[in-house]
Amino acid sequence: MTVFTVDDCWLDGWRGRTTLIADSGGFRPASTAHPNPTAHLAGTILPGFRDAHVHLGLIDGSALLDGGIAVAHDFGWSLDAISDWIAREPFPEISFAGQLITAEGGYPTTSGWAPRTAAREVGGPVDAADAVDEQLSAGASFIKVALNSDAGPVPDDDTLDALVSHAHNRGVTVAAHVQGIGQASRALGAAVDTLAHSPWSERLEDDVIQAMAETMVWVSTLDIHGWGSFDRDFAVANDNVRRFHSAGGELRYGTDLGNGPLPLGINERELRALEHAGLELDALARAIAPTRPDGALGYRISRITAERDDDPAGWLASAHLIDPINLEELLA
Ligand SMILES: [Zn+2]
Repeated sequence: MTVFTVDDCWLDGWRGRTTLIADSGGFRPASTAHPNPTAHLAGTILPGFRDAHVHLGLIDGSALLDGGIAVAHDFGWSLDAISDWIAREPFPEISFAGQLITAEGGYPTTSGWAPRTAAREVGGPVDAADAVDEQLSAGASFIKVALNSDAGPVPDDDTLDALVSHAHNRGVTVAAHVQGIGQASRALGAAVDTLAHSPWSERLEDDVIQAMAETMVWVSTLDIHGWGSFDRDFAVANDNVRRFHSAGGELRYGTDLGNGPLPLGINERELRALEHAGLELDALARAIAPTRPDGALGYRISRITAERDDDPAGWLASAHLIDPINLEELLA
């Protein structure tokens, strides 16, 4: 066990000079029961950064660590890939949805970016519950449903309700890909927990945004719209995000990594897009560096050596990961 100080630490708030401990399980704040620190690490430390929407089937996941991403949520692939990802080392901490549950012939069965086996087509409410069970048996820790009426049929209301209530009964959340007019509101009505993307098909009404802010989490993925060129979909999504954030909604930094020309690591443009939508430094830190329920910082921590300045997106994007093994080299 190593006990050391850092200049500043973010744990759902700025803590200033902080004493941390590192052991083979990762990093956590020291308590009065721990011995005195024996070393100092210059810079600011945050929990290991998370990308809350990736597709490990489309990228080299092991490269995420060098890119500054310690935790990744996989938003859909074939079930047979999962055991391989879990066994790989070194690799980010991952959680995954398993297959995308969809209507027969629905997205993404014909979209081309995913193999057919990445979709689980369901014929009705009973089949939807079975599909949820299949994902959880394979190790999925949340469920993803496709509500994309721009790309084919979508599950009907009875099927969607059965899917969500069965997932909730099994103790997991449901994320939805919503695309097409009215699909975001359908997700809200069905008590879906997470939107896989900030909605871009339509400007949502303020009362819908308010209700979503109280019950839903949105994964940002703003940069998929134009990759920096700010198209029409970007503008609509950005406006929805601005109002969702103002209403107190929880935004998670996520990039849909694997789809399109995105950097294999922290995407500074995604952070800038969130900043453009009104998220200041603390909100950005909350979105990308979540504090865990047990108060730990994770197996890997994010370290920034530059001074905090007036460019929060650029400052956060300069972070590098430290694990308990390379910590020893840094302190040596
Ligand atoms: Zn995706």
